[in-house]
Amino acid sequence: MTKETEADLTGATPRRRPRAQPLEVGGRRLAPETLMMGHGYDPMLSEGALKPPIFLTSTFVFESAAAGKRHFEGVTGKRPGGAEGLVYSRFNGPNQEILEDRLGIWEDAEDALVFSSGMAAIATVMLASVKPGDTIVHSAPLYAATETLIGKILGRFGINWLDFPAGASRAEIDAVLARAAADAIAIGGRVAMIYLESPANPTNALVDVEAVAAARDAIFADAAEKPPIVIDNTFLGPLWQQPLRHGADLVIYSLTKYAGGHSDLVAGGAVGSKAAIDPIRAMRNTIGTITDPHSAWMLLRSLETLELRMSRAGENAAKVCAALRDHPKVEHVGYLGFLGEGDDPAPGSQADIYRRHCTGAGSTFSLYLKGGEAEAFAFLDALKIAKLAVSLGGTETLASHPAGMTHLSVPDARKALLGITDNLVRISVGVEKAEDLMADFDQALAVV
Ligand SMILES: *Cc1c(COP(=O)(O)O)cnc(C)c1O
Repeated sequence: MTKETEADLTGATPRRRPRAQPLEVGGRRLAPETLMMGHGYDPMLSEGALKPPIFLTSTFVFESAAAGKRHFEGVTGKRPGGAEGLVYSRFNGPNQEILEDRLGIWEDAEDALVFSSGMAAIATVMLASVKPGDTIVHSAPLYAATETLIGKILGRFGINWLDFPAGASRAEIDAVLARAAADAIAIGGRVAMIYLESPANPTNALVDVEAVAAARDAIFADAAEKPPIVIDNTFLGPLWQQPLRHGADLVIYSLTKYAGGHSDLVAGGAVGSKAAIDPIRAMRNTIGTITDPHSAWMLLRSLETLELRMSRAGENAAKVCAALRDHPKVEHVGYLGFLGEGDDPAPGSQADIYRRHCTGAGSTFSLYLKGGEAEAFAFLDALKIAKLAVSLGGTETLASHPAGMTHLSVPDARKALLGITDNLVRISVGVEKAEDLMADFDQALAVV
């Protein structure tokens, strides 16, 4: 609760201010792992409770009529500095504020917002910045619901889109951005946003965020406003990829995945500069896409173990993939970690992007079995530890069949282009004992 009201200038009794949690000790800047236990919460404001209570309230009491007026002067812009304190739970609450303070820490972001789902975050970000005639340039493929939102829903309101493949080179990105800029001018619109997702699902293709930022700066050098670069970092963030450092302006999360990490909640987040976040907060305040206090509390608990969980899952995936790649029944393993092998990759290659952008390979990978759907189904049905379910980033290992499940409605030609073949199994490795998982995959492969 770092955003508590200051002493009220109107003369009303000031609210108690939370005791600031130190960000450094003895000149040492504290790591996110340490700050997750206490940052943004003062137990003395909540009867000394070590953990923040869940604030189940829809509204907050003003100290005085003058304090209430002062608040609304801030909300409506009649007084500079914005709103202070809490007023109504569609806007914010104590649990959500603490969560936002902590979420931003991982990427050293100035500000953060939390949402009721990853898609709520994406939709709110887009609604905050597009108007009819605008174009969204995006990497492809995207999470299916994001593609639907851009192509089918925003399309109904006169928003256009243009895409480039996730693995595109600087020259290809330049060409698409230049075309989008020219098209937009021709129809009196703007390129409103460059929207990325990296790695792409299920291809694992990485987007060169640094190249996108350089291309954006070159193509829009003379423009009054440069389109912001927004990236969905759900698959590798915040531990293994921090795109704000590589030129992105806003990073979006499905907190349902690694951040929540226990497959027991749905939530979303966005982190970036205050200037990037402010208009999105205004849109969220209007349409009410904030997460609820209970999910926020669950996420606070999850963030305490984020580094532990993600590190273990990442180590497990490395072991599992190393064992699977040489298995006689396996055709190919699509695992980002293999991009870290060998030396001196060609500039702009996937291995080069991986080494510049990523500090880890994640724990979600593509397993291509020898054969087709029958072999993939036999493998999936034989698994004893891994559960057959979509989603990823949880403590437990999950396996699914993209061609027959998440990507069933994708046209065949596009499926082939994306490598979504009938022999593809998508696996998200959890924090179980790696050797147990290897035994499970081994016995399931034996059945195929
Ligand atoms: C799951 C997911 C989303 C959507 O998040 P929800 O929390 O399910 O709304 C968006 N992007 C990616 C990459 C995802 O994996």
